[in-house]
Amino acid sequence: MTSIPGQLSPAPRLLLGPGPSDAHPRVLTAMTTPLLGHLDPQFLEIMNETQTMLRAVYQTKNPLTFPVSATGTAGMETCLVNLIEPGDKAVICTMGYFGNRMVDIAGRCSAQVTVKEAPWGQTFDLQVLRETLQTVRPKVLGIVHAETSTGALQDISELGKLCHEFGALLVTDCVTSLGCTPVKLDEWEVDAAFSCSQKGLSCPPGMSPVSFSPRAVDALKARKTKVQSWYLDLTSIMSYWGGDRAYHHTAPITMVYALREGLRLVLEEGLEARFARHVRNHVALKAGLEALGLTYTAAAHCQLPQLNAVRIPEGADDAACRKRLLTEFGIEIGGGLGDFKGKAWRIGLMGQNSRPSCVFQVLAALEVVLLGAGVKVTGGAGVAAAEKAYAA
Ligand SMILES: *Cc1c(COP(=O)(O)O)cnc(C)c1O
Repeated sequence: MTSIPGQLSPAPRLLLGPGPSDAHPRVLTAMTTPLLGHLDPQFLEIMNETQTMLRAVYQTKNPLTFPVSATGTAGMETCLVNLIEPGDKAVICTMGYFGNRMVDIAGRCSAQVTVKEAPWGQTFDLQVLRETLQTVRPKVLGIVHAETSTGALQDISELGKLCHEFGALLVTDCVTSLGCTPVKLDEWEVDAAFSCSQKGLSCPPGMSPVSFSPRAVDALKARKTKVQSWYLDLTSIMSYWGGDRAYHHTAPITMVYALREGLRLVLEEGLEARFARHVRNHVALKAGLEALGLTYTAAAHCQLPQLNAVRIPEGADDAACRKRLLTEFGIEIGGGLGDFKGKAWRIGLMGQNSRPSCVFQVLAALEVVLLGAGVKVTGGAGVAAAEKAYAA
């Protein structure tokens, strides 16, 4: 006979890694709302409301703005499979782990991929990309806005215009930026963007908000070949989330409730206030981490407020320290990815977790763990520095 596992009762955690970050209590409550059918007029209204709020958060008027029914990577795949046809030229800019994922997906779409690399922790200079666009003349240029593996923020505010000068479409990974730092799709002339629910929007993982400019929709309509993915084919999803609400797949009703509540929270707070809060808490955390002798992996001019990636100090064992944080303090932080595996820790202050109590908890716990590992730190220095930063 199969023995039945006990009722779920995981120990409480504070999720301060690169995601998932904690869901807001109001989001969890929204998720207990009874199901509706995915074609119920009430649900269709909920879809409309969700899309309207999503446009406000993405700062766009793009009609084709909706959440893909899966995590952030599915949003990445949706953008690339729909805009790339076999043989098309794509330039993918990589400065970390997630740029490389875009390279892989573009290759699987049978694009002729040109990879532009910047060192991990750095970002791209527009002049360099201008030269690449000029020589390659790609159909699509893909770039990560907030590179979660290094903690670097790529300035994309002028990149859309530049791409359009050379007839290219700009695809941006906004998975870690949306809801934490400004994302202005229309002003920045971004053609396709994707994000996720579990980082800056304080929802569980499971939805990937995407948005496509009219220019991207034209490119989609001009395709000569079928989109190779059935599930992610916008030409048919469009009629469910776009026009006549014709059945395509069963929307994950509960996740749409969650996203709707997460977006309500963002708009109630106000975008500018939310971005300022992320900066304030980052400044305090950074003061604390630096007082403990930790240094950031991203260059000083491009550090993300919502994702603080620091080098693991000499003498500290990566796995042992993170395990102690998790089991003794209930705090999850992230390890390094790719080039930074075993070399970096990643502390997320995303969405509702960007608040002073999280800053103080992680600094206090980190002090204890570092002292325990024999790293030379002054006990109390991190917390004191953060306190001072808040008071300034
Ligand atoms: C988390 C992340 C992804 C992947 O999203 P999933 O929700 O894990 O599929 C892609 N890009 C960036 C920059 C990320 O931080």
